Amino acid sequence: MKSITYAERINQLPPYLFAQIDAMKAEARAAGIDIIDLSIGDPDLPTPKPVIETLCKSASDPNTHRYPTYDGMRVFREAVASWYKRNKGVKLDPEKEVVALIGSKEGIAHIPFAFINPGDYVLVPDPAYPVYLNSTILAGGKPYILPLLPENGFKPDLTEIDPEVLRRTKLLFLNYPNNPTAALADEAFFKEVVDFAKEHNIIVCHDNPYSEIVYDGTRALSFLEVDGARDVGIEFNSLSKTCNMTGWRIGYALGNPDILAGLLKVKTNIDSGIFEAVQLAGIKALEIADAVAGENSAIYRERRDVLCRGLGLEPPLATFYVWAPVPEGYDSMSYTEMLLSKCGIVVTPGVGFGAHGEGFVRFALTEDVERIKVAVERISEGMLI
Ligand SMILES: *Cc1c(COP(=O)(O)O)cnc(C)c1O
Repeated sequence: MKSITYAERINQLPPYLFAQIDAMKAEARAAGIDIIDLSIGDPDLPTPKPVIETLCKSASDPNTHRYPTYDGMRVFREAVASWYKRNKGVKLDPEKEVVALIGSKEGIAHIPFAFINPGDYVLVPDPAYPVYLNSTILAGGKPYILPLLPENGFKPDLTEIDPEVLRRTKLLFLNYPNNPTAALADEAFFKEVVDFAKEHNIIVCHDNPYSEIVYDGTRALSFLEVDGARDVGIEFNSLSKTCNMTGWRIGYALGNPDILAGLLKVKTNIDSGIFEAVQLAGIKALEIADAVAGENSAIYRERRDVLCRGLGLEPPLATFYVWAPVPEGYDSMSYTEMLLSKCGIVVTPGVGFGAHGEGFVRFALTEDVERIKVAVERISEGMLI
């Protein structure tokens, strides 16, 4: 073989901006520097014991060892529907309005394959979780960037989209509470989204993995709570952040049955569902999710307060992220490099979430409060390590 060439769709993916940071991090570690890593969007807290125990017990039952069903076990889908009813007041038919996913990322990555023809547009927020943009590209769609600006509360301005683009738009991705900005959406905004989607015949995919990581009496809405949302869209959610289960790979898509049927059609041809023992553990997680999320949020809140008070930042009302403007004289990459080389602190440069993330860095509250205190001291004293 003369040479290996990647498919065009792979070449079109944006470069991996974190490679440089990863290399610097590895170098600093190798040099014995005490690194405080606030860059990881992954809970440091363990999965609750009852969930682990249910997995162990279920895994030793041979009934769980065969191929699972594509859309998820009926009992699991019922547990999801019942949690949404209890927690969000949203009534879902577990048969047609709930699909189990191998983590919500799996569904987000597959949904464009069900609806996008070459040349169709997908509305992609920026800054954002990179999967919205990359799955659009992999499916042969054209991303149309919706800037999330601080002056708009990090919500897109839907009135500013080129009508020519709107004519050829199939999908819109949204994510509130938002990663990386921690912004919330209110009912008025979701209503505007529903009207917009109806008018232009656009499928709304709302990604809601931080719905339970909330502070100071905040309640994060489900998109499906809003009148008409089910006519135009689906919501992705997951146990990853709510119950500290990122490694388990279990999530769900909910809402419009025709949209879900499209997603399921793709999935049926690519994967074979989630290990049933994991689904049974997922049912246990959903039973205790409200208590677990409450405890988690209390832990993150303490960390948030230490970081935000210490650095004079606005405390977020949801997610475990703090989206911080970089000081005068830096851009997001140079500030990230400075924090690493001078303070031994790793953050994520905003530009890694898209061009409109420039001017910010993201702190993840995924180290314990003592480590965050040390981070604050190092930053405020401009400490050289
Ligand atoms: C963590 C995260 C996900 C992925 O969740 P999984 O269910 O673990 O795949 C999806 N969207 C956003 C915005 C996230 O931050």
